Amino acid sequence: MQRLGKNHGGYHGETINIAEVLIESEVAARARGWSAETFHEQSGFKWSALRRVAFSAAREIYISTGMHGDEPAGPLAVLRLLQENRWPAGVNITLIPCLNPTGFTLNKRENAQGVDLNRDYLHFQSAEVRSHVAWLEQQPRYDLTLCLHEDWESHGFYVYELNPENRRTLAEAIVAGVSPVCPVDQSPVIEGREARGGIIRPNLDPHSRPQWPEAFWLITHKTRLSYTLEAPSDFRLATRVDALVAGVHAALSEFIAHG
Ligand SMILES: [Zn+2]
Repeated sequence: MQRLGKNHGGYHGETINIAEVLIESEVAARARGWSAETFHEQSGFKWSALRRVAFSAAREIYISTGMHGDEPAGPLAVLRLLQENRWPAGVNITLIPCLNPTGFTLNKRENAQGVDLNRDYLHFQSAEVRSHVAWLEQQPRYDLTLCLHEDWESHGFYVYELNPENRRTLAEAIVAGVSPVCPVDQSPVIEGREARGGIIRPNLDPHSRPQWPEAFWLITHKTRLSYTLEAPSDFRLATRVDALVAGVHAALSEFIAHG
């Protein structure tokens, strides 16, 4: 599979009409019996949380994406997941299809005010993150959280694991699920962190870090097992969407199989 070689100093690939993608996602969700709750409104956009309640649910799963406006594969992967509607039995799913719609209108990582929202989960400078966290605080704890992203510099797919209690890992299963559809970044160092087989296990205390991504807030307040999936945005958009969809399915299958 070929890299496109387009990304010099940032993402220069395909873009999406986020307003259309979000409407399609909500339509797909409601048609399949999901509910939708708005937790923030700004600049003509609604921030929604979509929710599927299983008949006999034992587990709470949280999936979010669209944090960075130059990472279109995440919202498209969520749309595909909703349209396919193929979930394991016994899980409640909470799905946030886009955390930064204003960034998508500019094809920029940051929001329209220039804030990287995924560095704002400690100090809450942005209205979007304040609303998101206020809403999260009202939600149940999650057994598993998945954050879907892209990386314009990477050589392939990779995943961050936050697993402070050394629970049964899902990371190898996620990489194995993605590898048939997308190259995996086998670099020994990714984003300045030690990596092995496309897996980064940052051994760190969030409290030692001055700026928090969403995953740090989640691991500190809402869950004990969190994965951030990173698709390589120098490959075709369809490949990256396939990668994120396959990664979510692999995570859920492995989680349920050993639950
Ligand atoms: Zn990102």
